[in-house]
Amino acid sequence: MSYNINNNGYYGEFGGAYIPEMLYPNVEELRQNYLKIMEEPSFQKEFNQLLKDYVGRPSPLYFAKRLSEKYNTKIYLKREDLNHTGAHKINNTIGQILVAKRLGKQRIIAETGAGQHGVATATVCALMGLECIVYMGEIDIARQAPNVARMKMLGATVVPAKSGSRTLKDATNEAIRDWINNPINTHYIIGSVVGPHPYPDMVARFQAIISEEIKWQLNEKELQSNPDYVIACVGGGSNAAGAYYHFLEDTNVKLIAVEAAGKGVNSGESAATSILGKEGIIHGSKTLLMQTKDGQITEPYSISAGLDYPGVGPMHAHLFKTGRAEFISITDEQAMSAGLELCQLEGIIPAIESAHALAIFEKKTFQPQDIVVLNLSGRGDKDLETYINHFEL
Ligand SMILES: *Cc1c(COP(=O)(O)O)cnc(C)c1O
Repeated sequence: MSYNINNNGYYGEFGGAYIPEMLYPNVEELRQNYLKIMEEPSFQKEFNQLLKDYVGRPSPLYFAKRLSEKYNTKIYLKREDLNHTGAHKINNTIGQILVAKRLGKQRIIAETGAGQHGVATATVCALMGLECIVYMGEIDIARQAPNVARMKMLGATVVPAKSGSRTLKDATNEAIRDWINNPINTHYIIGSVVGPHPYPDMVARFQAIISEEIKWQLNEKELQSNPDYVIACVGGGSNAAGAYYHFLEDTNVKLIAVEAAGKGVNSGESAATSILGKEGIIHGSKTLLMQTKDGQITEPYSISAGLDYPGVGPMHAHLFKTGRAEFISITDEQAMSAGLELCQLEGIIPAIESAHALAIFEKKTFQPQDIVVLNLSGRGDKDLETYINHFEL
């Protein structure tokens, strides 16, 4: 059994490229070139140099002593929160902007919900001096003012999507329309392991730097490069894909995916996609998604904007279906408590997405000798207002 992508762009039965005919040339250009470009020595040199000098990699693998004592197991945190712009998303946007440059593109488009991917895209466009257009639902623009301001400061144009529910789904439609109209000079940067093939694979490969580093860092500290467990939160699935990547075929490394249960899996206000989802097509790929009986996509809910997505990438749908990864869902309440606990035990304020992953220590017991690596996907600065309101600080 392989847990990686096959030659046709499928993880088991999930993945593929279900796109309108008008988009075919754009996606096909990318499909034919992405691996060739990524394997070029000049590409690898530039990518690695930027990860080092601009992003600040390698991110530390930190032994969390007080957290480990509390839960009586060995917990290491992979500190993606220390990256430039505060999360793992920059690993992917750096990679994609370098691919775009080599394809001769001068114009970059993206869609964003909470604004985190928009900021990561605007950042690398400023770095490379490329035009940047970010589509964002009108409602999200109102809800996420600080990230809109960041994108504007970085020189991006933020275009409101005014149709439908005026959120992420509508912004995605606008971005796809733009790409169809500008096939020659424009690259569309997708922010997670979602979308038509080759995006899930390309994004997973850029994020794979996370598990590549974990292997040698763990070897330095524990004289073994494989942990017993790797834990990550899953929205679309990119930080998890990166943290799992080099362990996928080593089935003695257990993988745990943490989804957002929102107000509870059965509350009707949740984003626990694998548990509630059914097979369907979203953003050009066949995967698991939350939908009504007649196939309408259900509005997801989570206190964490980054996990508030109705689907999950095809790699994760496959990991769920095959049982390679264990999926656990965590409520808003459980995540917020775990976030506060990390602040007070380790002096680290996590993103609320990452706090979902941390909450599993209250739900699942590990053995004292287990080595558990948890991917701390981002820092909590962006979530301060949510923390303030929740804890009445
Ligand atoms: C965007 C985001 C996520 C969720 O996205 P994935 O593609 O599932 O990784 C998780 N954590 C943080 C900090 C984020 O910004």
